[in-house]
Amino acid sequence: MSERPTAAAPGARRDRLRAVVGGVVIGGGAPIVVQSMTNTDTADISASVKQVAELARSGSEIVRLTVNNPESAAAIPRIRDKLDMMGVSVPLVGDFHYNGHQLLTNEPACAEALAKYRINPGNVGFGPKKDRQFAQLIELAMQHHKPVRIGVNWGSLDQSLAARLMDENHERETPWDAAAVMREALVRSALDSATRAIELGLPEERIILSCKVSGVQELIAVYRDLARRCRYPLHLGLTEAGMGSKGIVASSAALAVLLQEGIGDTIRISLTPEPGEPRTKEVIVAQELLQTMGLRAFTPLVTACPGCGRTTSTFFQELAKTVQEHVRARMPEWRVSHPGAENLSLAVMGCVVNGPGESRHADIGISLPGTGEAPTAPVFVDGKKAKTLRGERIAGEFVSMIDDYVEQRWGRAD
Ligand code: SF4
Repeated sequence: MSERPTAAAPGARRDRLRAVVGGVVIGGGAPIVVQSMTNTDTADISASVKQVAELARSGSEIVRLTVNNPESAAAIPRIRDKLDMMGVSVPLVGDFHYNGHQLLTNEPACAEALAKYRINPGNVGFGPKKDRQFAQLIELAMQHHKPVRIGVNWGSLDQSLAARLMDENHERETPWDAAAVMREALVRSALDSATRAIELGLPEERIILSCKVSGVQELIAVYRDLARRCRYPLHLGLTEAGMGSKGIVASSAALAVLLQEGIGDTIRISLTPEPGEPRTKEVIVAQELLQTMGLRAFTPLVTACPGCGRTTSTFFQELAKTVQEHVRARMPEWRVSHPGAENLSLAVMGCVVNGPGESRHADIGISLPGTGEAPTAPVFVDGKKAKTLRGERIAGEFVSMIDDYVEQRWGRAD
């Protein structure tokens, strides 16, 4: 049996192996990739195409779809074709449980259209079928030259492995606590499956690992251990993070600790959308997590004060929202026409107390008049006061100044 897992300093992100998923590099020190997953019925081609396109346009660099029956497997190549016709080239990943070996065998066009197969070792099959069906999946990946993610999940852990490790634990002089044994089972399931895949002939640079759990401290402990014990690129995510602020806070708390330690080459934020909330929220949260940590830049972010008794009108909040929505809406176009605009820093401040100071630190910042102040709003550009806005058109004029700044600084001279 292996040694008791300990939190250990992991290798830097650049020391990871490098996998390529439909042209997107994961690991080897490449920028951390943002992923998402659809929640449409994959067999509903038009709904799935629409949602994949929305996720891709919001910045998802890989999109996973569940492939759970012959209808969804048959839909995958048609979804791929339609996306290609729309100019949406985002790689698609198939999520397989129990019958992946059959679906990929029976639908070679699906196997070809997917850029990666996600295999959950706990859900490959039962009893003696497990090893055979796992081998079939790996052989299909080799046949179609695809990478795989061996994605272990707390909720579907290989029970025979867990039982075996529990038995071994009882024989220890000082048994581990049950949580430590379960963490070991998760990590061992991922590592042993990867070793088996390599024995079957899959090149090691076509393997990505994940070990998702739903508890923050558990996730941190599991990934520290996993990072210490292998060089495969790691897909990071807190599974079943939940809804609303709880899901965002829990995911951010767990992932931030690991990302700061150099662990994690691709991330997904598993949010449960609130009724009516767009699926793209999980992409925006992932991007904002990476951007606020200084790991990647995607969209200009607005620094705004929280407001207080000096901001009794809602104008300040409305302007901060308008500005953030404006730059987010312009970013898909700017990404192509004005590369670098994602690094733009903006400030919208509520009064004179911190307004001018914070605005000077941004590329463009505006200090709005607080209660009782003269109704003027100085705008600072590159640290210097550039203009004073007044009256009804402050919002429109400030947004125009942002567009002009982006044009001048990042517009192409052709
Ligand atoms: S900058 Fe002004 S309005 Fe904003 S929180 Fe500080 S004191 Fe309040």
